[in-house]
Amino acid sequence: MRKNGIIIAIDGPTASGKSTTAKRVAERLGFLHLNTGAMYRAFALLVRRRDHRGHDLERVHKLLEEADISFSPTGNIQLDGINVSRELQEPDIALLASELSTNPEVRAKLVEKQREIGKNGGVVLEGRDIGTVVFPDAELKIFLVADPAIRAERRQLEMEKLGTHIPLEELRQQLEERDKRDRERAISPLRKAADAIEVDTTNLTIDGQVERVLELAKQIMAVT
Ligand code: C5P
Repeated sequence: MRKNGIIIAIDGPTASGKSTTAKRVAERLGFLHLNTGAMYRAFALLVRRRDHRGHDLERVHKLLEEADISFSPTGNIQLDGINVSRELQEPDIALLASELSTNPEVRAKLVEKQREIGKNGGVVLEGRDIGTVVFPDAELKIFLVADPAIRAERRQLEMEKLGTHIPLEELRQQLEERDKRDRERAISPLRKAADAIEVDTTNLTIDGQVERVLELAKQIMAVT
């Protein structure tokens, strides 16, 4: 048994419902929520701020040494101690994060941080490689999937809440491009762990998907 409880790993493609589910499940269980995608995005923001497009690997590695990525006590992602959650929502940051996440050094550094934060348990981690690489011994692994058309609609709603309208077709293209790269990369590609439970959120409400994960978590917590 880990000090603070079980580890719940939630993986899946872009806009499959990972963040909303992970956040609410963590709140309900009193667990920590760790959005690992936000860490890749924060590093992408740092790269972009230094006016760099990510192709010069030597510079990327130098920036990696400088990168100060952390979470505030309320769970907001910070770059150099400043909350950057709003800026991380921009679609070009997501694309750059996806490009940079194919780099082994970038992954090694962020994975080390994720393991450090999560090792005592009592945590819900969301990402692409949590159940396969970061915590292959997680007590509960969920793989969320959803129809691409629905995922594009969800992303559109999220962007609209932030005051930006992006056509559905453009969003669908962006998410398919990102998923393809995440699935096909050589290191830690997006894939369902053999022992993960697949949950299709296409026809589920947010409450429905949260309840499904909580039900599975409670079954495991009852026997660990
Ligand atoms: O989850 P989110 O869309 O914020 O992730 C942004 C990008 O970061 C993903 O497209 C993926 O390339 C990368 N990522 C990753 N491994 C993770 C989380 C995110 O490679 N565990």
